[in-house]
Amino acid sequence: MLVFVLNAGSSSLKYQLINAETSELKASGIVERIGIDGVLKHVVGENRKLTIEASIQSHKEAIELILETLTQGETKIIDSITEIQAVGHRVAHGGEFFKESTIVTDKVIKKIEELIPLAPLHNPANILGMKICRELMPNVPNVAVFDTAFHQTMPEVHFLFPVPHEDYTEHHLRKYGFHGTSHFYVSQEAIKLLDNKKESRIIVCHLGNGSSVCAVKDGKSLNTTMGLTPLGGLMMGTRSGDIDAGVIPYLMDRKGMDTHQIIDYLNKKSGILGVSGISSDLREIISAANDGDQRAQVTIDMMCNRVKKYICSYAGLLGGVDAICFTAGIGENSDLIRNKICHNLEFMGIELDNQKNQLKSNISREINRDTSKTKIFVIPTNEELVIAQDTYKLVK
Ligand code: ADP
Repeated sequence: MLVFVLNAGSSSLKYQLINAETSELKASGIVERIGIDGVLKHVVGENRKLTIEASIQSHKEAIELILETLTQGETKIIDSITEIQAVGHRVAHGGEFFKESTIVTDKVIKKIEELIPLAPLHNPANILGMKICRELMPNVPNVAVFDTAFHQTMPEVHFLFPVPHEDYTEHHLRKYGFHGTSHFYVSQEAIKLLDNKKESRIIVCHLGNGSSVCAVKDGKSLNTTMGLTPLGGLMMGTRSGDIDAGVIPYLMDRKGMDTHQIIDYLNKKSGILGVSGISSDLREIISAANDGDQRAQVTIDMMCNRVKKYICSYAGLLGGVDAICFTAGIGENSDLIRNKICHNLEFMGIELDNQKNQLKSNISREINRDTSKTKIFVIPTNEELVIAQDTYKLVK
């Protein structure tokens, strides 16, 4: 079954065309700067790249162009869009209502609309993607796969905030967690690498532009670092992660900011970018630190310390750890960061093998010493494959 996987953002669209039965990736791409100057980068199979710069004014134009690229010219991969048998949508927030993926109906769209206050930037774009696909491919079923769903197994003790209880019952204030499809995929791969161990305690470190750690017990999310919104937890590319709430009114007073401005500041101008004053791209920070930039070095150390803090905390919650997994852009590619995070954790039975850690590869691998009680894995994430497979399961 050919599944078109769509991840619709406010000004960008990422897509993949996947054969869900064989896991074969047929094509992928991204449209960026929708409504500004519109750029489509399309990749056929593993290698053939094409960049189209066009005036793409709306999400609808973007999806039309993607479908055209899939069916025409030198990028053609299918004869007609009728070969697409289902569409899987990444949806940011499913609240407490969506505990698993679901077929998109009018009722489902309405429910996702009701959840917009919890994800004001993302859910509207996700809904738009669904509506456009239903219009352009009227006979093709759509499936919504939620970033929050995997974390719905978190117990109350981990998802409640320490504020008056009616804020939860009346205003849905709680930790939801994100990156659920990635944490699910990576922890499942880790369980396979642990010979399908029955009772498993896994910590997944998803370290990319956005980052989160998840404690996974017996395949289920027990706790995770992001909260009501993806601003919680780790220090990220441009997001502060957890900070003392008192910082917010202090900065608002000092800098004359309103609520919109302070949230924008903590989401887009903080984290690695804010502390380093250089960039949100960790590669640039590592390079600056190598050139002797002290603040870049502090940025790296702050980021790693926060990951370490959660690994230790979650090891305590889980009562030990069978495997720590690193994934996403930083987790998969930076041996330096993995090394810094694992440093000094030998007392907990976490022993990194420096040579194995430095080997470059894009497949799942073990990087711990043979004597390490805890396995350390690098597992490339594949959220789109999870979306395609969930879509297939529901549609078939
Ligand atoms: P997103 O959350 O946008 O999907 P990614 O998972 O692609 O992000 O991760 C992007 C981050 O990964 C960037 O900060 C980038 O600098 C970092 N990254 C990619 N390759 C490396 C590398 N070799 N060393 C250090 N950081 C890397």
